[in-house]
Amino acid sequence: MQIKHNIQLQLYNSFRTKAVAKLFCEPHNVSELIDVLGKFPDEKRLILGKGCNLFFTKDFDGLIIKPTMKGVFTLFETDDFVEIEAGAAEDWDDFVAYCVSNDYAGIENLSFIPSSVGAAPIQNIGAYGAEVKDVIAFVRAVDITTGVLMDFSNAACEFGYRDSIFKKRQNYIITSVVFRLQKSFVYQEKYIDLNRELENITNPTLSQVRDAVIRVRTRKLPDYIALPNAGSFFKNPILTEEEKRKLLQKLPDAPIYNAENGMFKTSAAYLIDKAGYKGKRKGNVGTYEHHALIIVNYGTENGIEIQNFMCEIQEKILCEFGIELETEVWVY
Ligand SMILES: Cc1cc2nc3c(=O)[nH]c(=O)nc-3n(C[C@H](O)[C@H](O)[C@H](O)COP(=O)(O)OP(=O)(O)OC[C@H]3O[C@@H](n4cnc5c(N)ncnc54)[C@H](O)[C@@H]3O)c2cc1C
Repeated sequence: MQIKHNIQLQLYNSFRTKAVAKLFCEPHNVSELIDVLGKFPDEKRLILGKGCNLFFTKDFDGLIIKPTMKGVFTLFETDDFVEIEAGAAEDWDDFVAYCVSNDYAGIENLSFIPSSVGAAPIQNIGAYGAEVKDVIAFVRAVDITTGVLMDFSNAACEFGYRDSIFKKRQNYIITSVVFRLQKSFVYQEKYIDLNRELENITNPTLSQVRDAVIRVRTRKLPDYIALPNAGSFFKNPILTEEEKRKLLQKLPDAPIYNAENGMFKTSAAYLIDKAGYKGKRKGNVGTYEHHALIIVNYGTENGIEIQNFMCEIQEKILCEFGIELETEVWVY
């Protein structure tokens, strides 16, 4: 496997910011991956998928590892379900399309999310009432410290809202993911926009659900190729009872949902909108006019401009509503 030097990363991140990586490699299999980890034990490392959830503010003084393990294999099958292993470098939406065309149910609501299969468990990708954790049987990953390939059961992945053990520890490189998908399907109403899109269809099929998701997403979200962005920039804040009470004093119509462990979730997009930042533009950066949660790049190649705008929004929300907005996007 070739180790490349001084690689420009602009086309490797969906915000299209410029930065140079000192070292860059693309292991094709687990043994190449373990080999490269052993060769550069002291280099700072960054694992890269499609780069749709990160951007760069400076050059990367270390080794970028972009796994290129491909392949989709059926491991196990019964009358009710199928277990399929997909390589980390498989395109997520191609994989969803493959499953839908074979009538394997469980990930159709996650259609059209720009991702590699390997990155999907990192933040437990979710959309339209579905999360990838609900269909993951286990995850195969190499421990960066020991160089050992391990299987993580669903429970061992410690999935949460946009969270997992891989995100918390940042010490594993996912090489493949094994999904358990169902062979029967009945559409369940989980999300209002999607229900509306399907209201004239009785018992929608998997393909009809996938098509509806793609239509809704295309209407609502900017195409990152035309208008560089990384999807939702901030996580929806999780509030204690006391924080919820204080927020409702300031904003009585704030949306509040029940979250895990007796906590509450509110909408980051709503808060940004209320702070006057929906569609706001500063220089070459702004929030998308149709979706306050998405920061878009109107023409800068400098990630610091995006980072400054991000900090401005965080300060404004903290100052006005006493809530800290946590980023969903990784800033390097
Ligand atoms: C237009 C748009 C819409 C989006 N919509 C959604 C949405 O609806 N729901 C949602 O959840 N997300 C959404 N996102 C965010 C993004 O799609 C997901 O976070 C996706 O999983 C990123 O995949 P990636 O391959 O680009 O990962 P990258 O951006 O390359 O990496 C993301 C993180 O994962 C790590 N990583 C990547 N691959 C591996 C690996 N093999 N092993 C270990 N670590 C790894 C990276 O180091 C980094 O920390 C959207 C993004 C865009 C641009």
